[in-house]
Amino acid sequence: MDRDHLKQQLCEAVDRRRDEIIGIGEDIMRNPELGFKEFRTARLVADEFRRLGFEPEEGLAITGVKATLSSGRPGPTVALIGELDSLIVWDHPHGNRETGAAHACGHNAQIAGLLGAARAIVDTGAIEHLAGNVVFFAVPAEEYVEVEYRARLVEEGKLEFLGGKPELLRLGHFDDVDMAMMIHTSSTTEPKVEVAESCNGCVVKLIRYLGRAAHAGGAPHKGVNALSAAMLGLSAINAQRETFRDEDAIRVHPIITHGGDLVNIIPAEVRMETYVRGRTPDAILDAEKKVDRALRAGALAMGADVEIRSLPGYFPLVNNSNMADLFKRNSAEFLFSPEHVRDCGHRTGSTDMGDLSHVMPALHPAMAGAFGDGHSRDWYIANHDEGYLAPAKALALTAVDLLWSDAAEAQRILENDRPRLSKEEYLQFQRGVYRTERYSGA
Ligand SMILES: [Zn+2]
Repeated sequence: MDRDHLKQQLCEAVDRRRDEIIGIGEDIMRNPELGFKEFRTARLVADEFRRLGFEPEEGLAITGVKATLSSGRPGPTVALIGELDSLIVWDHPHGNRETGAAHACGHNAQIAGLLGAARAIVDTGAIEHLAGNVVFFAVPAEEYVEVEYRARLVEEGKLEFLGGKPELLRLGHFDDVDMAMMIHTSSTTEPKVEVAESCNGCVVKLIRYLGRAAHAGGAPHKGVNALSAAMLGLSAINAQRETFRDEDAIRVHPIITHGGDLVNIIPAEVRMETYVRGRTPDAILDAEKKVDRALRAGALAMGADVEIRSLPGYFPLVNNSNMADLFKRNSAEFLFSPEHVRDCGHRTGSTDMGDLSHVMPALHPAMAGAFGDGHSRDWYIANHDEGYLAPAKALALTAVDLLWSDAAEAQRILENDRPRLSKEEYLQFQRGVYRTERYSGA
């Protein structure tokens, strides 16, 4: 068996399973679940793993599902990852009417791709030609949302971190993994395959303005208006924007999640959430200081209190260039043609693959197949072959390259590309982000 022949067989195996793989992706599209609540989706993945002959580990960081395929020969472990969770987009046509959950970021295609890769690798017996192990890992809660809800889970001791991969890392579920790869769907039609050099990291803030309630008509002078304090805080954040340097790619995008209780009462409590994103940890820390200062300014102006809880977010993503080369070659030779495959620079979104990319070689490229604007009502997987099948093939082919024969390729990457942080250093940094400041403007 030569390597290209096996790759051809893997592509054919995915094509043979076409209807099943697309069916999985569409089923998850119509049954979206938010992070750390992906119970149905996790069950679907676990059942599928069992059908393929695995004994999956379940309930990892609440909903994660992991299956390991071992070659029986010593070598590194490559994790192929898909994310289970959705967003909330209330008016999405395939959304859940009760929860608002909707797959407006294509994670349904990630799971279809992951399961498609697993099927193809099992169907072809590819592991016979590899060394080391392939882990198929469906992971929870990549979207860092419902922050108050998750912060409560932290208080209850059910989580330490609010994102899926940081929590899985902490719990040791990546201890046996040497390198990791996943593919995110994109709605860009050209190029069809894109590898960013890097993505923003972030810290996350939960903010509470506390004023004093009073009759809004009869005696507003007796109140302290928490909503006015919050709005001044937001204005002060906006005034900082000209101080953010382009090269730091700062993004600050607060929302008000509670703006008052009743219209005839001066608001006594207003709650907000925000990320502070940036290209490097230093840039994020600098912007974060300005944001905190701005938030205090709102409280000072009104004589209100503000409580600022800083929560560990995600590390900037640094894609491993050697893994990227393998992936790009496979995409150009087996899936598309070279002109459809491109590098791009920095991206300003964030992902917890960034966290993995600091403790092991990791790859998080984008492949076409979706239509619409990400995180909006328009988004869906419009091209099934590109959105569901191509990622399944790309994951399988790249795993084969990494672990082929005696896994020389993976070994070389592990020797040359040392992790930026040990797991302990990573956890220490993230734990250090946690703090609560209470500032009194009175
Ligand atoms: Zn997203």
